[in-house]
Amino acid sequence: MSLSKHQRIFTLNVSKLIAYAYDNGIELTFGEAYRTREQQFLYVQAGKSKTMSSNHLRRLAVDFNFFINGNLTYQWSEIKSIGDYWESLHPKNRWGGDWNKNDIKDGFIDTPHFEMNI
Ligand SMILES: [Zn+2]
Repeated sequence: MSLSKHQRIFTLNVSKLIAYAYDNGIELTFGEAYRTREQQFLYVQAGKSKTMSSNHLRRLAVDFNFFINGNLTYQWSEIKSIGDYWESLHPKNRWGGDWNKNDIKDGFIDTPHFEMNI
C-alpha cells in the first residue's frame, strides 16, 4: 500500500478519534500534524526529540491538547481510554502514551501523540 493511501487512512481515523474523544467528555485542540525536516532538526538539536524519523515527517502523526471540564490536561490516566480507542482503529496505530505496551509508565511518555507506524 502506498504512503499516500496510508496517510488517507490515518486522516480518516483521526476524525474518528476526535469524535470519540468528544463523545467521552474530552475536548481537543490541535498541536502539530505534518512537520518539516527543518523543524524536526531544530527539535533534535534542542533535545525535544531524539529521532529524525518521526512519523510527523510522513504525515502519519498528530499531537492533541486535551480539555476535560474546560481544563487542559495531559494526565496519562485521563487520556488512556482514547489511546486505547486509537489503537483499536488500526493494527498499525500507536499511542505515544503507551510506547511500552505494558501499562507500566517507565519509559518515554508522549500522551499528546497519535501515529500510524508503517
Ligand atoms: Zn507527536
